Amino acid sequence: MITPRDAVRLVLKHTRPLGATRLGLAQALGHCLAEDVRADRDLPPADRSAMDGYAVRFADLARIPCDLRLKGEVAAGSAARPRVTAGSCVRILTGGNVPPGADTVIVVEQTEARNGHVTVQGRPAQGANILRRGEDARRGTVLLRKGTVLGPLQIGTCAAVGKARVLVRRRPSVAVLCTGEELRAPEASVRAHEIRNSNGPMLFAALAAWGYPGAPCATAPDDVALLTDALRDHLARHDVVLLTGGVSVGNYDFVREAVERIGATVRFHGVAMKPGKPCLYATTREGRHVFGLPGNPLSAMNGFHEFALVALRRLSGLSPSKCQSGLRVVLASRLTSPGGRARYLLARLAWNGEGPIATPIATRSSADLVAGGSADGVLVVPGDTREMPTGSAAEFRPWRPWR
Ligand code: AMP
Ligand code: MG
Repeated sequence: MITPRDAVRLVLKHTRPLGATRLGLAQALGHCLAEDVRADRDLPPADRSAMDGYAVRFADLARIPCDLRLKGEVAAGSAARPRVTAGSCVRILTGGNVPPGADTVIVVEQTEARNGHVTVQGRPAQGANILRRGEDARRGTVLLRKGTVLGPLQIGTCAAVGKARVLVRRRPSVAVLCTGEELRAPEASVRAHEIRNSNGPMLFAALAAWGYPGAPCATAPDDVALLTDALRDHLARHDVVLLTGGVSVGNYDFVREAVERIGATVRFHGVAMKPGKPCLYATTREGRHVFGLPGNPLSAMNGFHEFALVALRRLSGLSPSKCQSGLRVVLASRLTSPGGRARYLLARLAWNGEGPIATPIATRSSADLVAGGSADGVLVVPGDTREMPTGSAAEFRPWRPWR
């Protein structure tokens, strides 16, 4: 059995960013840039006022108070005129371009206007309240580098430089296939020997939360021929297929056999971790990826976040070091582990004023969605660690984008 760290290495070894595609800004959120984005002109494009006030010649303010003739007005969106000549000024509003002749803006609070004249009562520094052309960036400067993940701010930057369509990495299309004779849809009535399919809606939601919305979810019975057909069918249409259940060594666990029947190569099967030991990863000749996740919901979620999400992020173009999300937290209570395998313990996250603090949540089993209902993710306890005292630093893996 390999360690989780080696399993992640194998995932990264067999995944490469997908091809590029051009998207409008409304579709681009969460995608990785496949090109550099540059300033298409100087930013700001002209000297402009940061305040409401008057555009003046600093030389006219030698004696304060002084009286200037009001010649006109420049608002945001109007052209910069008329010229400010000796003894005159132009009313200027925030965002208005500084008219020729003026070199300083005096804020409206330091003036008094009457009958076409303005009395200036304070002296600003020369050049005050003017944002200079090009002071944010010169035309041609790279503002966003290839590989940057587009969040709201970065989309704003694209818009600011006229990049209405951006070249981004295609994100993988993912399908979820839940195996198990016992599974029923959440809306169906269930008998004692039947189980509601939690994994399907849960993984659909996890995918959507991490930026892979709309994954189709299907179920398959514990029949190796039917499962093989279903797997082949899904792999023909998707870059990644997530299977749940049927991945250990029980009499009705057919995932590995189905993976082998379609000719895929198993890269790992069995990881020294709890929960999630039976996790399987395989690749096809066509460059598609299969993750076999255990049936128990907490195990499936763990395998998803430890391995499948890493692959999805790498395929989406993130650099290898950024594919696994995680944060450093402080433990709110002491932890113990029997050691041997890496443990992943459900925990709730809070912000205590200084930083994130995690409180472990006791679970009865890896099917325990009752405990899962109050968790934000898991504390990662390495295989060689047996005890972590209250207040010590720990690694936390959020099971949804946090804060
Ligand atoms: P398996 O890995 O197929 O042996 O399943 C392990 C346990 O997880 C069994 O108790 C299954 O009934 C349960 N299980 C499997 N698939 C699901 C699912 N989609 N939703 C909820 N529980 C499941
Ligand atoms: Mg099963």
